[in-house]
Amino acid sequence: MITIALSKGRIFDETLPLLKAAGIAVREDPETSRKLILKTNRRDVRVIIVRAADVPTYVQYGAADLGVAGQDVLDEHGGQGLYRPLDLKIARCRMMVAVPNGFDYQRAVRHGARLRVATKYVQTAREHFAEKGVHVDLIKLYGSMELAPLVGLADAIVDLVSTGNTLRANNLKAVEEIAPVSARLIVNQAALKLRRSAIQPLLDAFARATA
Ligand code: AMP
Repeated sequence: MITIALSKGRIFDETLPLLKAAGIAVREDPETSRKLILKTNRRDVRVIIVRAADVPTYVQYGAADLGVAGQDVLDEHGGQGLYRPLDLKIARCRMMVAVPNGFDYQRAVRHGARLRVATKYVQTAREHFAEKGVHVDLIKLYGSMELAPLVGLADAIVDLVSTGNTLRANNLKAVEEIAPVSARLIVNQAALKLRRSAIQPLLDAFARATA
């Protein structure tokens, strides 16, 4: 059995065509079925539905052989035990620093101000600001980062931005790009070594579909 870990939403939706190109059709829709293990047209392939941030963990421990995870999630996880063969170029967005519309971020940085930054992506943010020599106090949040500067919890946030609509709706502006983000195919290193004949054709099909 080959187990593929996916998260609901954009990653699931945008991985479906790639699976299809590899000859795999998922039989159930995770949005309507409450099932966490989904059958496919192939008896030897199943899909499991986990939280986006948990995908690397399932693959790292071999509970899933393959997975699809955003670069943002992989950077936070650290990637131990994972082979990351392929940028799938899906679920694209950008990791950005954002502040309230009235806040002069560049000036604050020039003046060496110590900034309070709220984010789910603590590792990524720490590395970014350290590299720039900006002093920050990081506040870990688990969601709705956009709220933090509006209620005085933080001066700035680090978050994923796709269309920019969420920032605009909350009177925030992006002031710095940290990195472009897209999703990668990840593979359990031991599974690839021990079951290469089963897994390699899938990797090849994904590679062809994203070329
Ligand atoms: P947008 O309004 O299109 O800029 O989307 C921003 C919101 O969607 C933020 O709350 C982000 O955390 C989230 N978001 C955007 N792109 C992604 C992505 N590729 N993966 C996960 N969350 C995302």
